[in-house]
Amino acid sequence: MTVVHAAPSWLDEIPSRLTELDRAHLLRRRRVVLPAGGARMLVDGTPMLAFCSNDYLGLAHHPALAEAAREATYTFGVGAGGSPLVSGHSAANDALEHELAAFVQLPRALYFYAGYATNTGIIPALVGDGDAIFSDALNHACLIDGARLSRATIHRYPHADLAALGVALAASTARRKLVISDAVFSMDGDLIDIPALLSLCERYDALLLLDDAHGFGVLGPQGRGSLAHAGLTGTAASRHVLYMATLGKAAGVAGAFVAGDAALIEWLLQKTRTYIFATAAPPLLASALRKSLALIAAADDLRHALHQRIAQLRDGLATLPTGLGWHLLPSSTAVQALVIGSNEAALAAMESLRQQGLWVPAIRPPTVPTGTARLRIALSAAHTAADVDQLLSALAAHAADCTATSRQKAAGTQWAPAADTV
Ligand SMILES: *Cc1c(COP(=O)(O)O)cnc(C)c1O
Repeated sequence: MTVVHAAPSWLDEIPSRLTELDRAHLLRRRRVVLPAGGARMLVDGTPMLAFCSNDYLGLAHHPALAEAAREATYTFGVGAGGSPLVSGHSAANDALEHELAAFVQLPRALYFYAGYATNTGIIPALVGDGDAIFSDALNHACLIDGARLSRATIHRYPHADLAALGVALAASTARRKLVISDAVFSMDGDLIDIPALLSLCERYDALLLLDDAHGFGVLGPQGRGSLAHAGLTGTAASRHVLYMATLGKAAGVAGAFVAGDAALIEWLLQKTRTYIFATAAPPLLASALRKSLALIAAADDLRHALHQRIAQLRDGLATLPTGLGWHLLPSSTAVQALVIGSNEAALAAMESLRQQGLWVPAIRPPTVPTGTARLRIALSAAHTAADVDQLLSALAAHAADCTATSRQKAAGTQWAPAADTV
């Protein structure tokens, strides 16, 4: 009689799976941070100059926002107490929605507690089994997850390849077609051609969901976002676009919203499970956000400073030695990606900068495609010209180290079998 052994529990494998991640240089570690003025932070107790925040206008620590939040706690308390469709739709959240719609010059807005929950909720509310989604290959994870949750058929097109998108739209027989795209791509920093994308959508009666997490507050007149930047809001607004943006980046607080045609927004209010079955965002955040919107509209000086820092960084990086295989992706936004290549080399660059007092995150797969591990340099109006110079010098020092090391290796390999060179 054979003895049946119970299979080892899959839970026993977790420690070795963690070890595998570590070996592949994919283990992520959180750092404990404290603000230390401007773009500086205490990171695990050590003062660092940070280039990793999405607080592009430096508003997250603005005293007026803190004051608005503090004031609001006296009127509204701290928590919303319920989901928006039960008892959690506070007067502050309601006022914010009206101001958001006016700010982005679209008919109506719906305010959410997080961007991630917005996209994972609204996509399944719009399309389902038998419908079609067309998704840019470099879209943010929450657009991808929302698409999967919807059970619609997903057509992934190469990044920014509108010709390929056009072919896929033309070939689709689905009645409901949804195109999903970042406006500014979060790991590359490039801006999609919104007018061309939207005209394709109109031609094929597809709805465009545009995620402007990195354009809102930064691009467009008075920071009204990428869609306004493209001149497609107000009287030029199309009912074929649903504009989404997050409020934890340039707006400096937390949350997100979706805006567009009033009937479409009403539909989302009725059908979005992540909206209906979740506690509304605390009203104190809405109060801080209303203040933030006013500051953003008046912040041309901050946007100007940010654009100066972007130009300074790009000019400086252009003088780094070639031959290391590093390359700076095209971007005119606050997100500047310096592609290094391997996970190991990207981590070494991050570590070298860390030792020089700078915090620039290495972004690795699966966040970016394999072989394109990079430093994601996020600039902010809170950076001074001296801050950017400090980063440029530190990168130049690391580049010089790498060049010296590869020269030594090359010298060594003259005497070694070719197979030893990798
Ligand atoms: C940050 C981000 C989100 C998620 O927003 P949260 O409010 O942080 O949940 C969504 N889309 C893009 C493109 C982002 O960069």
